[in-house]
Amino acid sequence: MSKKVIVVDAGRRKFFPADSLYTISSVKDQVDMDQVSIYRLFEAGDLALILDELGSVGDDEAVLFLWVYEKFYPVEMQSMLQELIDTANSMAKVTIAMGGIHPTLARDLLLGDTRIDYVIAGWPWSASSEWLDGGKQSTPKLLVAAKDGGLPDHLKLKDAFSRIKNIKSCVMTTATGEIYFNYRSTYMCKNGCAFCHATHFLKHFGGLIEKSDERIQEELLFLKDAIGTDKVYLSSYVCDKRTIDSLNRAGMKVENQYSLMVKDITPELLDMFKGLGAECVFIGLENLQTPVQKRVGKHFEIDHFEKALRDGDAIGMMFEGNIMVGLNSILGQPSTSEDIVRDIRSVIPQYRRYRNLRVLLRPFMPFVGTPLGDKLWENTGRLDNVGYWDYIKLGFSVARGHGVPEGLPIPPAYADLEAFETIKTYYKSFEQLVRHRTSLYKYPPKNKDKAVLCDRISDLCFDILETGNVDFGDFLEDALDAMSRWK
Ligand code: SF4
Repeated sequence: MSKKVIVVDAGRRKFFPADSLYTISSVKDQVDMDQVSIYRLFEAGDLALILDELGSVGDDEAVLFLWVYEKFYPVEMQSMLQELIDTANSMAKVTIAMGGIHPTLARDLLLGDTRIDYVIAGWPWSASSEWLDGGKQSTPKLLVAAKDGGLPDHLKLKDAFSRIKNIKSCVMTTATGEIYFNYRSTYMCKNGCAFCHATHFLKHFGGLIEKSDERIQEELLFLKDAIGTDKVYLSSYVCDKRTIDSLNRAGMKVENQYSLMVKDITPELLDMFKGLGAECVFIGLENLQTPVQKRVGKHFEIDHFEKALRDGDAIGMMFEGNIMVGLNSILGQPSTSEDIVRDIRSVIPQYRRYRNLRVLLRPFMPFVGTPLGDKLWENTGRLDNVGYWDYIKLGFSVARGHGVPEGLPIPPAYADLEAFETIKTYYKSFEQLVRHRTSLYKYPPKNKDKAVLCDRISDLCFDILETGNVDFGDFLEDALDAMSRWK
């Protein structure tokens, strides 16, 4: 086949588009590789490049393949994708295929978008390649990937690497200007949390894909040389000793933070991370109340959590923990303001005691296609007349604490109006607190006097939170501004 194939890997960060490379590698015998272009769509400049290339197609046949791996994509990304889809749709011989996490989970909704020709559920390299040569469709055709497809055996990243057209949007830059790229040693996760899309993939598409040691070595060494950096951001959902060993053997250093399950954390693992250059470990706490933890499959003991914080403290390691408010709606009823306040208060003792803990607050959004999301939507009714794009907008806005976009309803499964407003206010307060600990309380603190002041400010914030007064007003902002001038 000699028609143009334009692959767009969209997301809100400058991620290396490995998924798109795998997809193209899996069909490399069916395409003319010289006619393939791979782009990371991250910002307006990328969109302009892609539209240019699309414009060069003229009246010829072509395929636009859109891949969105992210859990949420923000409003700006949605607008760019819409523009791309509208342009391609206006061209008589351009076929549009779309796949990714939400196109998989919310496929029924996406099938209502008649601009799309093929919706791919699951890993595109394990699905039929009909999207390549099947031509335009009057209504979207669903292609469902094989279960346990894994990654194709013949795959080599280097087969498709040279087809990337905008490598600058595929690599991230540290504060000191060094570049680094993300890498996944595993795909999805076997922990089975009931609110998580990974659980859906595990059940329907073989879920966890673990690359062999040899493959990790081969890929890392190739990318290290091709991209020109030994810094990597490990974007596997949950890390383990084997992965750290592989990074060590390939001579890689790590940038950014890594994800561990609280129950898996040991001093040895923390030491290994530290040895690779990691400064922060992400832990999905979600909720500290045992009945809720049991229902969502995220069970750990508070003692273990505190021990991890102490072990981290001993070697100067920071932790970032996620609390998902509104998650107690899974116990049967939409969350109330009291539930929300109870969730927040449950984490304050640890947050107060351990200075190497940052807490992110995330409103819970029951995504369709996840075990918990499906159950909740089933019990309380789905939202009528909310199409795929509105659903994504709603999901992103709620999960980011931005509120519900105008014209869209609050999901009935989630919270009542008052509780939703409470969540929004708490979210803002926590954002300020995280900014405080991120920007001013470097861990371990370099300037002891400044750290003492930071601690006092933190304590005042916790006092405010404990009284149930969730709004810091200008107090924290003023303190942050004053301290940022203190060198
Ligand atoms: S540990 Fe994280 S990635 Fe794995 S299933 Fe749970 S929430 Fe999803």
